[in-house]
Amino acid sequence: MTRADWIGLGWAGATGGLVLALGPSALTLGVPAAAAALLVADGVARPASQVLVPTISRGPARAGRRVALTFDDGPDPRWTPAIAERLEAAGVRGTFFCIGEHVLAHPALVRGLAAAGHELGNHSFSHARTLNFRLTAAMEREVRRGETALLSVLGEGPRPLYRPPIGLRNPSLARVARRLDLRVVNWSLHSRDTFARDPAAVADRVLTRCAPGDIVLLHDGSDRPGADRSVTLAALPRILEGLRQRQLEPVTVSELLAS
Ligand SMILES: [Zn+2]
Repeated sequence: MTRADWIGLGWAGATGGLVLALGPSALTLGVPAAAAALLVADGVARPASQVLVPTISRGPARAGRRVALTFDDGPDPRWTPAIAERLEAAGVRGTFFCIGEHVLAHPALVRGLAAAGHELGNHSFSHARTLNFRLTAAMEREVRRGETALLSVLGEGPRPLYRPPIGLRNPSLARVARRLDLRVVNWSLHSRDTFARDPAAVADRVLTRCAPGDIVLLHDGSDRPGADRSVTLAALPRILEGLRQRQLEPVTVSELLAS
């Protein structure tokens, strides 16, 4: 039983008890429904929440001035090599949470990232936006297939870190994470590079908020074809320079966690 299962069991028991004691009413059904909705909303809206799934969203205090830049939804031939090049020009290694389907479509990009010392993480196989509404078996399949795609390209290695699509956590993921001993990694700082049009605004947002231990979310691809990541690409040199001026040292997520 995961913590999410215990919460579910407690919730069902409390709801049943209320209904038995007081009869079904707007109160005895409405309050539990609101509590359940709040829990789901917490797993959706707070990437650092620990309630349903143990989740890593920042480095340990002993990480000093280290931070981690993470890039989701690639690899994408249009953006990933250019983003990696910017990082490498600054002597920085990032963490790329790849979608399994994209890994199989562009294995050379994945090998290139690994050869340059970047970390590769699993971001599910298909990045299905309905993943959170599926049962545990479907969740496990998505996680495993994403991982198999990565390891088929990289060769056998340790189990990659896992970042859930859109950062969403639910009881299914809690069970899969426990079963596979999966480390679930979200972020403490969203660059908002997927919404912003102005690279300077993205860089400013990151640089004004970034603190030691932060895990920063950026994007080098998309689950939808044809996405434009030019804002991320243009913001990146400013971010790297700003971090350097603030004496914040970007490392991979695994390095940050091993600090
Ligand atoms: Zn994603």
